[in-house]
This record gives sequence, C-alpha cells and structure tokens, in this order.
Amino acid sequence: MKILVINSGSSSIKFKLYDMETKTALCKGLVEQIGMPNAHAKIITKNGTVLEKTGYIDDHGLGIDVMNELLFGSKVLSSLDEIDGVGHRVVQGADLFDDAVLIDDEVLETIRNLIPLAPLHNPAHLAGMKETLRIRPDIPNVAVFDTVFHQTMPKSSYMYPLPFEFYEKYKVRKYGAHGTSHQFVAKAGAKVLGIDFDKFSCITLHLGSGASISAIKDGKCIDTTMGLTPLEGLMMGTRCGSIDPAIVPFLMKNANLSGEEIDTIMNKKSGLLAIGGTNDMREIEAKMDAGDENAKLAFDMFVLRIKKYIGAYIAILGEINAIIFTAGIGENDARVREAVCSGLEIFGIRMDKDKNAAPHDEPRWVGLPETKVRIIIVPTDEELAIAEDTVRIINSCKKS
Ligand code: ADP
Repeated sequence: MKILVINSGSSSIKFKLYDMETKTALCKGLVEQIGMPNAHAKIITKNGTVLEKTGYIDDHGLGIDVMNELLFGSKVLSSLDEIDGVGHRVVQGADLFDDAVLIDDEVLETIRNLIPLAPLHNPAHLAGMKETLRIRPDIPNVAVFDTVFHQTMPKSSYMYPLPFEFYEKYKVRKYGAHGTSHQFVAKAGAKVLGIDFDKFSCITLHLGSGASISAIKDGKCIDTTMGLTPLEGLMMGTRCGSIDPAIVPFLMKNANLSGEEIDTIMNKKSGLLAIGGTNDMREIEAKMDAGDENAKLAFDMFVLRIKKYIGAYIAILGEINAIIFTAGIGENDARVREAVCSGLEIFGIRMDKDKNAAPHDEPRWVGLPETKVRIIIVPTDEELAIAEDTVRIINSCKKS
C-alpha cells in the first residue's frame, strides 16, 4: 500500500510517499515559494535520486502538478493509480474533529469554517486538498488534524479564565498543536518500556523551532502548552511563548504599535532570536561558548521555561513513567536535555550523561537504570503518523 502525505502551507507543499508494508519513505520533496518568481521544487528518493525544478509556480494547483512531475520524473511512481490514499496534515480542527476523517464536501466546508482560528494554515491545507481531489477524485483523501490528540483535555485545562461569551461566540479556548508528534513519540516511548499505551503516563517535549509540551495520563492528553494558537507556552525559535498579556496593550499605547504589528513581533521576532540573536539553537550554543552573554541568557530562559512546565505537569499528572524528548532540539541537543533534567532528581528523573551524549537514531532511554521516571529520546515522524492514520481511516471506511 502506498500513501502520499501532503503538508500544504501558505507558500509551500511538502510531500512524502510511504510504502506502508515496510513503513519506509520512498521519497520526500518540497515545492516552495509558490506564487513568487523564484519558486523551487525538489525531490529526494530513497535511492538517492535528486530532481529539482525552478521557475514560476503560480498557485497550489500548479504546485501539485510539479509534485506529480517530480514523482514521475524520479521514477518513484509511474502512475497515480499506484497511490492508495493521500493523507493531509491539518493544523486546526478545533473541537469539531476528534479523529482523522475521510475528506468529503462537508469536511472541506468545516475546515473552511475554521479559517478564523488558523488564517494562515487552513486555507493552504484546503488548496492542497482541492487539487489532489481534482486530479484524482477516486483516491481516498484523509485529513489528519494536529489538534485531535489534545481533544481529550478536560474543560478545566482548555478553558481560559475570560468571559464565557468569548468561548461560546468565538470558540476561544486552548486547542494545542503538534498533537500528531506528541502522540507518535508517546506511543513509541510506551513501546520502548513495554507498557500498554492506555496505562502509560508521561510528559512529551517537542522541542523544535516551534516547541510544546504535553501532559499525558493513561495514553490521553490532559494538558498541553500551546493554546488557541501556537504562540502560547514555551519560548521558541522566534515566538515569545507565554508572557504577561498586559504587555500587548502596554506596547500599543507606549510604543505606538498596532495589535497586528505586535502579533508579528511575538510570532516572528521574539524567542531565541530576540534574546540570543539567532533562532538556531546550534548557533546560540556556539555564541554562548564564545562568551556571548545574551546567547547564554537565551539558552537559560529556554531551559527554565521547559523546567517550569515539567514541574507543573508532574503536579497534575502525579506518577509518570517517562519524560520524552523529540524534534530538532529534543532529539539532537544533548546539552539542552542535560540542562532540562538537572535538578529534577527530586521527581525521580536522573540522567545517564554518557548515554544522553551518545548519538543514536532509534528511540532509546537515557536515564539511570534505578530511576522511577525514564528519560527517553524518540525521533518524531509526523508524516509516518499521518500515513498510518490515513491507512486506518481508509480501512475503517471499507469495513463500514
Ligand atoms: P521545525 O520542524 O519546527 O522547523 P525542527 O524540529 O527541525 O523544527 O527543529 C529546529 C531546531 O532544532 C533549531 O533550533 C535547530 O538549531 C535545532 N537543531 C537541529 N539539529 C540540531 C543539533 N544537531 N543540535 C542542536 N540543535 C539542533
């Protein structure tokens, strides 16, 4: 069974084709700068074939055509008939989807109605879906939502202490993000420890350019750091994370900035970039080693916020089996992991520093053997998780 996974963004289409018998990616590719003069498309196959294309790609329709050209040109596919299903990543499903779903007109309409909650992402996802459906309406397309895993949060976690009408009229509540990744790495962590997922409790730390933490009890998410939007929670590459909300009106008044300008600053010009001068953790650490005090401050602030959430989540979870690190920083940065875990011994979290520092591609635990809470590193694979969900939904539709 071959499943194509598409992550359609506002100016890009990322794609990956999976052979689901072996769970291997046959290729991955990207069409970027759609609508701009310097559009660029690239595919890399499992066998190392690389094909590229540059030029003007007007819109997502042409973007999907270029993707197909690359799939055929690299000989990964000889016909679209070989694809058994397409899985689409969708950032925002709000509280209207508690599972992945086969895409039909009603689903498209619902995703469209959620645009106010994800004005950059949902229109781009819709464009990708419409094009794949236009080209081959007979191939099942499945929407896999980043928000689904967080739908099990209790109301006390997802409500904001704001007037009720904001929730009722505008759906203002916590939805979370990175749900596919949190679920994927939590399941992998449970497997590493040989514990059934529905009896597994853990804290998952997705630390990439965007970063979030989830509290998982008996296989279900009960809280997560991202909120109505992916701005809440941790300090990130360019996002500030949680700050005193009164800073916004303060800056509007005193710095003469509009709400929109502050929103852009909080999303694109804050975080590691604002404090340490770069949004790349590797560069932060290089600068820090060269004596840059602001880079050290950025590192310390990043780590401090993570530790605060770990403490908070242990307080609401009680006993946990593991804390799980994933994504660019979580998987690769031993120094961040060590800094995060230092001082957490009181919670039964004790790191084996040598194991932590040893590079490895497979999920593994790096805690000391006698510790109660395992420290596990799991490479995330959101696309594989989307492909697996796509197969599950297609099969369940066949049965019913
Ligand atoms: P996203 O998918 O959100 O764009 P990633 O998961 O790719 O983000 O993570 C990007 C972050 O991971 C960057 O801050 C980058 O510096 C960091 N990173 C990637 N590789 C390493 C590494 N080997 N060591 C330390 N940090 C790394």
